[in-house]
Amino acid sequence: MMKMTPDGFWDYTRKWQKDFAGNRPVAWEKYWIENDFCKDCRFCCGPQDSDIPFPMPLLERQRREHLDRDFHLLDSLTPYLAAPGCKACGTEGCRLKLEEKPLACGFFPVVLANGGLYLYKNCPAVIFSPLIRFMELGLKVGEYLQTLDLDELRRLSLWLNCDTLSRSYIDLRISLFRDNAKEMALD
Ligand code: SF4
Ligand code: SF4
Repeated sequence: MMKMTPDGFWDYTRKWQKDFAGNRPVAWEKYWIENDFCKDCRFCCGPQDSDIPFPMPLLERQRREHLDRDFHLLDSLTPYLAAPGCKACGTEGCRLKLEEKPLACGFFPVVLANGGLYLYKNCPAVIFSPLIRFMELGLKVGEYLQTLDLDELRRLSLWLNCDTLSRSYIDLRISLFRDNAKEMALD
């Protein structure tokens, strides 16, 4: 009999099939993805099934006092998500203003990693939406990120190994920077 891995892609797919009837609106707003799945999901804010930290860097201009009240911190400007979930996640969802959140929160399930954009596979919005919708949203995220400095892009980019990328992400083939140059390129 076919076995599903614990906490793996198929386990989430089966869960989302029970929780969601199917397609819902997802759309680009000024600098975030408005996602109608999130209100009934909260998967990427609440307790996680992994203790491996998922960094969500803030930009220098987002530095403020008492960040530790809102986030678990890897360093003074880098919140992370791991097993306990995000401190800013309350019963009604995220209690932070948009400008206080890590930029990564507004883009998820589009993720900046290794200088390019990827799509996180386990998100129900990804599973139930046509891929072209998130490809277009990836372009919007890319256009927005190109307004940031190269140093800020470097700060925001995760560095993920090939195994993690192939297991958990879809490559959107949108490159934002390479070496010392910022350039949005599609391949
Ligand atoms: S996993 Fe996807 S649908 Fe769920 S809260 Fe995160 S972005 Fe929204
Ligand atoms: S800052 Fe808000 S949106 Fe981001 S992970 Fe925490 S609760 Fe979720």
